[in-house]
Amino acid sequence: MRVVVVGAAGRMGVAIRAALQVWPQAKLVGAIDRLPSEQQGITTDLEAVLPGANVMIDFSSPQSTAKTLAAAARHGVAALVGTTGLGSEALAAAHAAAVKVPLIIAANTSLGVTLLQELVRAAAQALPADFDIEIIEGHHRHKKDAPSGTALALGRAAAAGRGQTLESTMAGDRRGESARQAGEIGFAVVRGGDIVGEHTVLFAGAGERVAISHQATDRAIFARGALQAASWLLGRAPGRYEMSEVIGLKSIS
Ligand code: NAD
Repeated sequence: MRVVVVGAAGRMGVAIRAALQVWPQAKLVGAIDRLPSEQQGITTDLEAVLPGANVMIDFSSPQSTAKTLAAAARHGVAALVGTTGLGSEALAAAHAAAVKVPLIIAANTSLGVTLLQELVRAAAQALPADFDIEIIEGHHRHKKDAPSGTALALGRAAAAGRGQTLESTMAGDRRGESARQAGEIGFAVVRGGDIVGEHTVLFAGAGERVAISHQATDRAIFARGALQAASWLLGRAPGRYEMSEVIGLKSIS
């Protein structure tokens, strides 16, 4: 596996480059960020390194992903995008890129969270609709987007389990005096310190509660999951794939 890392100087970029050093048969062929860093071998020209790569791993910023995806597609390089908070431009670029290369966009590349997502879908499908669904997430004080991309993905999984979409079920702002609406999916966000990532999906019924949780204690889990997904993509036909396919669970139903 010949890997280009975009966002190489960031928290995740550093974790991925560390994980790559012990990943069997993997080689870093390009470390790209906004600013060059000679010490870390980081450069800024993605187009220059893509010809030597067979997979690009992007953990940068939502503003840059549309451009990096278009470049990967032009060079026939598979792509694993872990960047969260992607807007319509990046999603359109992903749609176009998936015609040319295999691609995964994953708000959370932890294999544990991938499993959590599938368990949430199954629980939402199995439990009666009068179980209220609430998603509680926590991250470090530097995180910019809220709720987290993972929390939204869990919300989508829960809504899908009920045959609905998150757009039609996501609770609005809870401040003020209005009571909880039946069937809505609520989100609560904690930001502070160095929390790596915590997610709980609560199914609260009358007389019982089910909580399904995941705690990340080390950023290395996202890096290892990203490398596993990147190697899984190699040799696949062009198209959009999911992390659940990487762990062999397309969808528990
Ligand atoms: P970070 O701010 O530490 O790193 C981002 C890096 O990307 C920075 O070094 C920045 O200079 C670089 N960058 C920004 N724009 C760029 C561009 N146009 N070209 C090249 N490099 C550019 O952030 P982080 O904690 O490493 O997270 C990065 C992204 O990954 C965020 O969107 C975050 O939410 C997401 N994330 C995803 C997962 C997952 O499992 N999918 C896990 C953790 C973080």
